[in-house]
Amino acid sequence: MKRKISGRFTGILASVCLLLGGCGNIEPGQVKKVDTAMGTVIQQNLYVLGEEDYCGEILALLEELEWRELSWRLDTSQVYGINHATGEEGIPVTAKMADILDRCLELYQCSTGAFDVTMGTVVRLWDIDRYAADAEEGFRIPDKQELEAALSGCGSDKLRLVRLEPEEGGIQGMAAKLYRPEGMQLDLGAVGKGIALTRIQEYLRGEPDITGAVISVGGSILTYGGKPDGSSFRVGIRDPVDPSRNIGVLVLEGDWCISTSGDYERYVEVEGVRYHHLLDPSTGYPAHSGVRSVTVLAEDGFLSDGLSTACFILGAEKGMELAAAYGAEVLFVLDGGKIQMSPGMKACFQEG
Ligand code: ADP
Ligand code: MG
Repeated sequence: MKRKISGRFTGILASVCLLLGGCGNIEPGQVKKVDTAMGTVIQQNLYVLGEEDYCGEILALLEELEWRELSWRLDTSQVYGINHATGEEGIPVTAKMADILDRCLELYQCSTGAFDVTMGTVVRLWDIDRYAADAEEGFRIPDKQELEAALSGCGSDKLRLVRLEPEEGGIQGMAAKLYRPEGMQLDLGAVGKGIALTRIQEYLRGEPDITGAVISVGGSILTYGGKPDGSSFRVGIRDPVDPSRNIGVLVLEGDWCISTSGDYERYVEVEGVRYHHLLDPSTGYPAHSGVRSVTVLAEDGFLSDGLSTACFILGAEKGMELAAAYGAEVLFVLDGGKIQMSPGMKACFQEG
């Protein structure tokens, strides 16, 4: 038989629990952490029930994604294995990598080649990431012949992904074979942080005690669940002219991925000309499409990140069409500072 507890007694009990903070499950607590992984800053802000700190597990997930799948530097990764394979033989890839490559090939098609993950040799030739991080010492603009030679080996249309029947796979977990011309180098830098967000989303959805989160992986941010006080998430959008301030905020509820690609993020300046890390596959040079930055809002990280790069290369008019085709929302900051937005983006954008 249940014992009846008086209202007065439960009131006292609740106060004691709050004071001690011990009955844990009353209201989510906030956990904050800043780390580096995947060559960038990871900021975690979680709302959790109970005492467990999930930040370490999320960080480990990102580190694993880097060394097992995406890194072009680490010889443990799938991308490294693909880039260093020789001969005409197809290279076995995991189901996860096959899905990533499938989506990259689709985005290549839909962006009419503006988004192209086979530009590794051209990306390395510029090496903007390195010089932007290292005081520009030793930076050299590649000459036209060098660029043309590197570009001739690029093009996602030269890739072929063949799905395997399970018994054909041979190596456990392998699900497809990738055929790529020798020497072609993959670089998944344009979608790596977005893929990281998607993996974090999957993790969060399996942890019912995490009731809300805002996590940024470099320029890509996810919102998840809700805040304990019921207020909306507010995600700032940087001003590309003065990245120390915001042009506005996105006011969001629930699960979203937001990615920004801009010419202010990683660049080298030579005699007043800015060379940034977003390359136009049709020329091999940094893209000049009349855009300073592009922010994409989507339900999935691969899409927000991939589309932000693709839309930067395409410019506002074609970029707007591409984002709409994928059902994503987009905000462009144009060369003169003007802002152009899709209707759904307007609905959640607050200036200032
Ligand atoms: P960030 O990595 O700063 O978030 P992006 O997501 O826009 O920026 O990706 C830029 C990276 O994508 C570059 O550093 C390079 O590795 C790669 N890249 C550059 N141009 C292209 C392109 N046209 N298509 C696909 N990848 C690209
Ligand atoms: Mg991107």
